[in-house]
Amino acid sequence: MLARYYTYSQFESHFSKLIKRFKIESLNEIEIGTSVLGKSIYGLKLGSGNIKILAWSQMHGNESTTTRALCQLLETTDFDKELDNIQLYIIPILNPDGAQSWTRVNANNVDLNRDAVNLSQPESRLLRDIIDNFQPDYCFNLHGQRTIYGSLDGTSPIQMSFLSPAGDQERSVNEVRLKSMNVINRIYSQLKNEVTGSIGRYGDAFNINCIGDYLTSRNIPTILFEAGHAGNDYSRDKVTDLTTTSLKVAINTLNEDMSYNSKTLMEYNGIPSISSNYSDIMIKNYPSSDGLTTLFIQYHEQVKDENLYFIPILIGLNREEIINAHEVIDIDTCLSFTNDLIIEESLEVYSESLNIKIFTN
Ligand SMILES: [Zn+2]
Repeated sequence: MLARYYTYSQFESHFSKLIKRFKIESLNEIEIGTSVLGKSIYGLKLGSGNIKILAWSQMHGNESTTTRALCQLLETTDFDKELDNIQLYIIPILNPDGAQSWTRVNANNVDLNRDAVNLSQPESRLLRDIIDNFQPDYCFNLHGQRTIYGSLDGTSPIQMSFLSPAGDQERSVNEVRLKSMNVINRIYSQLKNEVTGSIGRYGDAFNINCIGDYLTSRNIPTILFEAGHAGNDYSRDKVTDLTTTSLKVAINTLNEDMSYNSKTLMEYNGIPSISSNYSDIMIKNYPSSDGLTTLFIQYHEQVKDENLYFIPILIGLNREEIINAHEVIDIDTCLSFTNDLIIEESLEVYSESLNIKIFTN
């Protein structure tokens, strides 16, 4: 499996081996365009069936989980039988420059998921061309989520979330949205017992500049996958496996049961909403000059020398909107704490006794 961070050439070398199984000898055969900085973008077309699915990942460069899951899917030979009924078009990394530099935006500092109408960037225009030429019946819009999301009551982190995007300001539920809700419901019922965190439903506020909303407005059912985070899975290995399973269930659903009915919306609305109420680390009862304080720490992700570093940054004290954290340390019950916590001017936090330090992935 690819690690959470890979250089673009590491990805190319990995992907070129995976596609040999599909009788593609070289990546040159599947180059479909180039990024702002001239990196190749690839499109792999598999299967010969009637139902056409278009899936792209990493339009946000620092969200690698779904690319890793797509690669994992391609390695699974039992998935090949699904290709009899479908055509699957995969664009594994739409934003290679952002993937290399570990930024959300592309090399022109543009968020490609706010460029669906403007088409100001070569990567956005490429995706639009593929949509217009391939004419997908379904789209999978594959993303990764930050560590800040929890269930509404804050008792559980959101490990995966999904959305059937709105196609208009009124967020009307029409046939197009019911089709994608049906797929999400199937993924939810399969995965809800396999996760250590929760599965959530992403908010459906409408923004035509977001690709999913734009596609729904064009009557193309689209499913937003958000690979999230739970516990200490900073390598995101566990959530990569869950994402691969989600992709398999989605493809299987489109092979076998695309139907939706009067219960589809109700079932979909039964998936819990998500809230930004989590942090990476919470330190309770920290003795400060103002008395006992709760500290909230969030890792800042930075790529340097082809490594991904997680730098702990203090983001606030006593923040009421943050209910929980992936690691909760209570100084009251922490026998090894020696009050060695250092907060730099940059707000970087270190503590040997609490094991808070920069780590690499
Ligand atoms: Zn994203």
